[in-house]
Amino acid sequence: MNTFFKRIQSKTRLINPLKAFSLDEIPFEIRFDPLTGETGRVFDLPFKPPDMPDIEETIQRSREVFCPFCPEALEKSTPLFPKEIIPEGRIKVGQATLIPNLLPLDAYAGVSVLSEEHYISIEDLTPEKMGDAFSAALLFIQRVVDFDPQVQFFSINWNYMPPSGSSLVHPHLQVNCGYVPTNHHRIQIEGCKRYLKENGNSFWHNFIHAEKECKERYIAEIGSTFWVLSFVPQSFLPDVWCIFPDYYSLIQLSIAEITSFLQGLSRVLRYFGQENIHAFNMSIFSVKEDDNFRINARICPRLLIRAIGNSDRAYLYTLHKEPYTVKPPESLCLKLKEIFNK
Ligand SMILES: [Zn+2]
Repeated sequence: MNTFFKRIQSKTRLINPLKAFSLDEIPFEIRFDPLTGETGRVFDLPFKPPDMPDIEETIQRSREVFCPFCPEALEKSTPLFPKEIIPEGRIKVGQATLIPNLLPLDAYAGVSVLSEEHYISIEDLTPEKMGDAFSAALLFIQRVVDFDPQVQFFSINWNYMPPSGSSLVHPHLQVNCGYVPTNHHRIQIEGCKRYLKENGNSFWHNFIHAEKECKERYIAEIGSTFWVLSFVPQSFLPDVWCIFPDYYSLIQLSIAEITSFLQGLSRVLRYFGQENIHAFNMSIFSVKEDDNFRINARICPRLLIRAIGNSDRAYLYTLHKEPYTVKPPESLCLKLKEIFNK
């Protein structure tokens, strides 16, 4: 059972000025990702995001510069898809508009603008406010598959607010479809194959069962979605992992399954807001055809730039590709469960 949760417990020793220069031991863990085998480090440090993050200034500054997604600019300033892919040029669903991404992230790359609202606070990202943009993303993927059946890999992604890497405050998703998976997507697929070869059955149901049995990181199930804190967090503060246990492709999903996901996502974001986290990255990974894979999403909190101007990513993640987190994911589980059960 616990083969999923492999970890090495270690410690570092120092003479600590914060403890009157006495000998001190600081414990930490090196954990192995249950699916990919990649390592990450888990610390338990007294870190808390600052109470009064200065996001008002960022929002104000963003209103003073040109925003291509605001209603007066969108039609005039954003590109259209070629007619053979999207005859109407842009996909409109309710409040949302999906346009081509000028950044060529993949063979088919779209940007799904949530609505006319330039800024939506993290706590206000309700399923209703996000639903149209996700519906437009699903419609785009379906249109791409109809046009080009060779496409195999899809992802729906989100950089929310500039500390996450977004160049714009105006909320928007990025939808990528192509023939070659990204590194993380590929090692997930390889992990699924390896697990099947070694165990004779699929990773996902066994993993979900193990997380539910262990009760340390399991948050909830909503409709067709399973929610857990990642055993090996990918960000400075722990991230949340969502799995669709019964689906491998976003083209299999209807609005009902996406609504279950958005109900969970909005709860995670409410939790982030309560903890003074006002930026995040999110990716939903999906294949077109591979019954051994499962759609899954990671939602990573990102810290606002601190007074000195540093970001929350440094050499360890950039060059060693080794994530670390300053709080054990298990320490957040109860709070998230409360928000999910409300
Ligand atoms: Zn705007």
